[in-house]
Amino acid sequence: MRIDIIAVFPEMFEGPFTESIIKRAVNKGIVEIGLHNLRDYSTDKHHKVDDYSFAAGAGMVMMIEPVDNCISHLKSQREYDEVIYMSPDGELLDQPLCNQLSMKKNIIILCGHYKGIDERIREHLITKEISIGNYVLSGGELGAAVLVDSLVRLIPGALGDETSALSDSFQDGLVSPPVYTRPRNYKGWEVPDVLLSGNDKLINDWRLEQAIERTKVRRPEMYENFKKS
Ligand code: SAH
Repeated sequence: MRIDIIAVFPEMFEGPFTESIIKRAVNKGIVEIGLHNLRDYSTDKHHKVDDYSFAAGAGMVMMIEPVDNCISHLKSQREYDEVIYMSPDGELLDQPLCNQLSMKKNIIILCGHYKGIDERIREHLITKEISIGNYVLSGGELGAAVLVDSLVRLIPGALGDETSALSDSFQDGLVSPPVYTRPRNYKGWEVPDVLLSGNDKLINDWRLEQAIERTKVRRPEMYENFKKS
């Protein structure tokens, strides 16, 4: 998979992309991430990428031209399955959407800033808009980092244990059951006996029961769908 990210502050990805699972996936060649500074695509001598908003009062708006230049440049190099804009009013990111996007070959992610981007970019250049939640961030970079992390860990080979993404919350319509590690007893806080029983059937039944119970309490709407399926 190749992910190209267009941002005003690409340095913000330093950290999320240079540690842990994403770093390993990049090093293994499972994913290629291109970071593009929007200012490099501005024709203005001060590398300006924003301008005053027509009639809307306070706040700058990201201009069309640098974004169009950058996307055209990328599209001249390869075909893209999606050109995504991170936006608070976009489709809410959830596990089914992550699963679907993780199977794409090449995607572009555009990070907004200030008051947002000129609407004509959304109309003519963007194919999908994604929100990471119903709240407003100062810029799209943090949202893009969340999106990339959620996709990369699903690509086969990215996680050490290939099956572990499948047993995470949401993959089977349930949240994950509780997990424990050593010691068996910490200050009198015990690990449930069943997990030490060595009986796979009992353990699996317990895990499913716990997952169902947790889903019922923590995600009632998801539990209703699970019951129907
Ligand atoms: N004026 C806009 C908010 C702009 S916030 C509005 O009210 O809708 C600046 C940028 O941060 C946006 O262009 C977007 O790229 C990013 N952003 C803010 N909140 C986000 C969210 N919940 N999910 C994804 N991106 C978000």
